[in-house]
Amino acid sequence: MVLMSGVQPASVIRQSCTKRSGEYEKSYGRRPALAVVLVGDNPSSRSYVRTKRRACEQVGIDHRDFFLDSSISQEALLELVAGLNADDSVDGILVQLPLPPGIDERLVIDSIDPAKDVDGFTPVNMGNLLIGNPCLAPCTPAGILEMIDYYSIRTEGKSICIIGRSNIVGKPLAAMLMQRNRNATVTVCHSQTPDLRRHTLNADIIISAVGHPSLVDADMVSPGAVVIDVGITRVEDPAAEKGFRWVGDCDFDALSLKCSAITPVPGGVGPMTIAMLMSNTVKAAFARRAE
Ligand code: NAP
Repeated sequence: MVLMSGVQPASVIRQSCTKRSGEYEKSYGRRPALAVVLVGDNPSSRSYVRTKRRACEQVGIDHRDFFLDSSISQEALLELVAGLNADDSVDGILVQLPLPPGIDERLVIDSIDPAKDVDGFTPVNMGNLLIGNPCLAPCTPAGILEMIDYYSIRTEGKSICIIGRSNIVGKPLAAMLMQRNRNATVTVCHSQTPDLRRHTLNADIIISAVGHPSLVDADMVSPGAVVIDVGITRVEDPAAEKGFRWVGDCDFDALSLKCSAITPVPGGVGPMTIAMLMSNTVKAAFARRAE
């Protein structure tokens, strides 16, 4: 059984980003720059923003944080994004989700210049992704593909069951895996799928992105399958040092006896997502110069 840690492949991507951002600075006299907008004080969002800042510092990307009060109006937020779109010294814009109630998330995301949309969430990038055109791809699905390649897992001719159909993971991942360069046969399951087990048992590769601990147990997986666990949920655990721990969607201990490869949680897909954000920011910086 192969333990597909995200730590090593993420480190390879970060090394490449460090080299590329150094080249960018040499050519253009400044580092690539990422603007991160955080509205409100959601503790998980704050922690994600801190992780992103640390990653930027490691690879030589300038990081500008915009911490806004949750009472900010939609108009003021749209104005800030418009300012970042127009600012030539900003290469990437990330608006941390979720946004507070009263702000139309879609409207805000859609207002980001697609050339700076390092999360790959705008309709232009999503549309290009579906067509198979070059684009800034969403970081988690892109990280999963990098991980699949790093561990030499072939997708050609394979049946892949994705559990979850969100715009940030399930849908773009399905679009990427069904392209001609991947040639997988993809099934996308969701909360309204009857008999989930029927689909997972049929799959060579199962990718779960739900956020329900123990959703996928050993009875749902065929021997030798590959399991990629995107889900991450905080569960209280008095025995843990911090009083909680992070778990995925899959019953790791039971599945690891049955499958040929599995990702851990934490330390699997998570580090890949951050690495791909760095990669997209460097990519956006170079692409804007080529425009
Ligand atoms: P989301 O928007 O809440 O989507 C969850 C999906 O799971 C929905 O499509 C939902 O179906 C489906 N679902 C819910 N219950 C189900 C069930 N019992 N059986 C089958 N499908 C079910 O979540 P998300 O943003 O995609 O994130 C999913 C998980 O991945 C979360 O734990 C999140 O924290 C984690 N995540 C991790 C990373 C990382 O870097 N490691 C990145 C992104 C997300 P419906 O569409 O029918 O509601």
